[in-house]
Amino acid sequence: MARINLDNSAAESREQRLGTIVYWDGTASELSELSGYSKKRCGDGRGCPLKERKGPFTQPSVCSEQMVECQAGNVREAVLIQHAPIGCSASQIIYNMIFRIGLESRGHKVENIKIASTNLTESDMVFGGLEKLRLTIEDVWEHYRPKAIFVGTSCATGIIGDDVDSVAEEYSGKLGIPVVPLSCEGFRSKHWSTGFDQSQHGILKHIVKKNPEKRQEDLVNVINLWGSDVFAPMLKNLNLRVNYVVDMATVDELAQMSEAAATVAFCNTLGTYLSEGLEQHFGVPQVRAPQPYGIRGTDEWLRELARVTHREELAEEFIAREHARIGPELERLRERLSGLQGLIATGSAYAHGLIEVLRELGIAVNGSIVFHHDPVYDSGDPRQDTLAHLVDNYGDVGDFVVSIRQPFQFLISLQNHNPDFILIRHNGLAPLASRLGIPAAPLGDEHLAIGYDGPVNLGNLILEILERGKFCKDLSRHVTHQYTDWWASQTDPGVLAKNPGLIWED
Ligand code: SF4
Repeated sequence: MARINLDNSAAESREQRLGTIVYWDGTASELSELSGYSKKRCGDGRGCPLKERKGPFTQPSVCSEQMVECQAGNVREAVLIQHAPIGCSASQIIYNMIFRIGLESRGHKVENIKIASTNLTESDMVFGGLEKLRLTIEDVWEHYRPKAIFVGTSCATGIIGDDVDSVAEEYSGKLGIPVVPLSCEGFRSKHWSTGFDQSQHGILKHIVKKNPEKRQEDLVNVINLWGSDVFAPMLKNLNLRVNYVVDMATVDELAQMSEAAATVAFCNTLGTYLSEGLEQHFGVPQVRAPQPYGIRGTDEWLRELARVTHREELAEEFIAREHARIGPELERLRERLSGLQGLIATGSAYAHGLIEVLRELGIAVNGSIVFHHDPVYDSGDPRQDTLAHLVDNYGDVGDFVVSIRQPFQFLISLQNHNPDFILIRHNGLAPLASRLGIPAAPLGDEHLAIGYDGPVNLGNLILEILERGKFCKDLSRHVTHQYTDWWASQTDPGVLAKNPGLIWED
């Protein structure tokens, strides 16, 4: 179990805390064994024997600061200030679009994200940027009167060592609202998910109610992103209400997390830090169970949630009803989908859940790319070991690549497997698949595959995208990709990590 230390101004990075890696290849069972999760060898991550490969270069990816944009920057009634050069704000455009779609789908008033930048320039790098930060906080207060202000750092402010914590404390006192410093310099961690943890650390430390007057025994924190509202209808059957956090929550909804009866997450990659922090510091139990993917995972997840919230009878009735309801539809889908081959390219715990759903639908998954791997989650509880749950209950994945969203490796995996379709979360990779004639299902709504409706939703989506197969095949006859014939002739996506000298050969 990793200790979540709220006395510190920032979360420890994933690699320090959990032993996270971003580069590896082998089988899923080898990775599970090497991670040593169930054997507690990883424990706090520091003793973990799992070693990652190192490549000679990386293509562009995402950084922690962008994850702060998509978490703290998506809290309603709050403003995020990026204490950074303006280039760090390039992804505001995409996050604004996603935020607006999410608000619409949850029935909230549609509005733009409220993110400002201190727009640091060369002279600020020499003389310091804190005066600009003060001015920006005052501007933001003047314009928006927010209930909280988050201040995210950047590589630039990390290099010059601006004391953002002191300014945040100064303005918390002056304005009477939480001004929350978030240490999310891109170079601080090799994987962007550390940015989730930094946002959640700031929220736990500065926003969650320290001494809640009451417990809301029917309230469950659901850690998620912008997905459609699938948890509330499901948990209603157990007489439970949902407190969706962090994205699109209000500041008050974040504050009431300490009053809830339990915490769950749509994906352990996202929820590990906040769930553990709420349990360690506020006594809100996290549901230590497999994720709610596939019939098996959803059954186990619901039973554990019911145990924690004392609703076992209601859960059993609901489970029985849902099995009866979903069974015939699943049979119909299995008949149509069995024999197909899919490939997954998403974040890690999410990928484990999706593979389980595909296999329940009778679809073969022989290869996958996950964008990082956490050998252990913060609870250290083997019941949350999502990779072992996949391997033990649904079988191995023979070609399991950990790659921090590297298109050059993705090309080789696609060529090796030539799947009938791919499921992808970071859509920038999808056009490469289309160029090879492979249709892609971009999982814009990340809740699509959750719960008992998940396999049905996903099965129907796959049938839909297979209809685009001919278009992708036609496309592949007329376009090419940007890689050399030499690279395209490789069969091992990790060949450069194993033989870095190859890059210099003719
Ligand atoms: S914080 Fe660093 S890595 Fe992230 S966008 Fe800014 S400069 Fe790039």
